[in-house]
Amino acid sequence: MKNFFEAIASFFSSLFGKKKASAPTPQPQPTTSPNDRKPDELEDSSDVPVDTVSTVMVIEVIPDAPGPFADDDKEHAVDGEETPTTPTSPNTGGGTTTPTTPTTPTTPTTPTTPTTPTTPAHTPRFVWCLDNGHGKLQPGKRSPVFDDGKTQFFEYEFNRDVVEKIIKELKKNGVKYFDVVPDFNDVGSFLEERVDRANKFKTDLPKIYVSVHSNAGPAASASDWIADSINGTETWYASNSTKGKKLAAVFQKYLILKTGFKNRNLKSTAEKPLYVLEKTTMPAILTENGFYNNKTQVKELMKDSVRQKIADAHVAAIMEIEEKGIV
Ligand SMILES: [Zn+2]
Repeated sequence: MKNFFEAIASFFSSLFGKKKASAPTPQPQPTTSPNDRKPDELEDSSDVPVDTVSTVMVIEVIPDAPGPFADDDKEHAVDGEETPTTPTSPNTGGGTTTPTTPTTPTTPTTPTTPTTPTTPAHTPRFVWCLDNGHGKLQPGKRSPVFDDGKTQFFEYEFNRDVVEKIIKELKKNGVKYFDVVPDFNDVGSFLEERVDRANKFKTDLPKIYVSVHSNAGPAASASDWIADSINGTETWYASNSTKGKKLAAVFQKYLILKTGFKNRNLKSTAEKPLYVLEKTTMPAILTENGFYNNKTQVKELMKDSVRQKIADAHVAAIMEIEEKGIV
């Protein structure tokens, strides 16, 4: 019996002793710079490969971590690396006032000056809900096949590309936006979800909805091209929205100016009901950029340079409205 208690005591002693012995011992400090680390060597308390976290961040955290849970804090610091310090939506960009993480600070050619201001002086006025109309799984919404038997224009791809180009510029300009459908593969028409996401998106700034499309004219069949005389650009708004009409006019002005496409003017839902214009709870517009079943115009719409002009026109309209408001 005595031996039994001794064994128990010894057992706890060994446990306690082990813990006590290890507690004050600091974690082995990396003595080499992050660049000297072997490519596939792991952090001591993390399973995350080195090149996916900022090693410098870990080193900084260890001495600052208070109390007996320093190791836990370090792990949190490592795990938290991918979480931005400012709780913005992952689809929201622009206007951020603080750089998020100290990324790759050891590149020898670029001096790391943390004071470099990367944010433009622009003060965001609105949040632009950008809708890349249609999805990959949606039937129709594509041109007839070209004479080579394989080339075809897909509207969802065009809309998505233009919205991505717009976002790229808005980021540079410090304008706030919400990418309504960043989802790539499994999206069809998705109309209700588009509207729902934009309506539910929480922000302190007023929202404006911009849906980007390309047009199709009535053809004898899906494999027929339309008459070459049917071409150009038009911008839509909800017939009961004064703000929508004002916004549409600004977009249409720049679209004609920058693309040189024929001006098909403003159109409203009094002519044709459009779900995203009628169901959104914010001023909304929809741009129809050229006709993809016009064999001449679709060739333009397939050019990256033309898509950039279309994106630039949207950005110019957005910047004017950011500056002046809806007037
Ligand atoms: Zn469309």
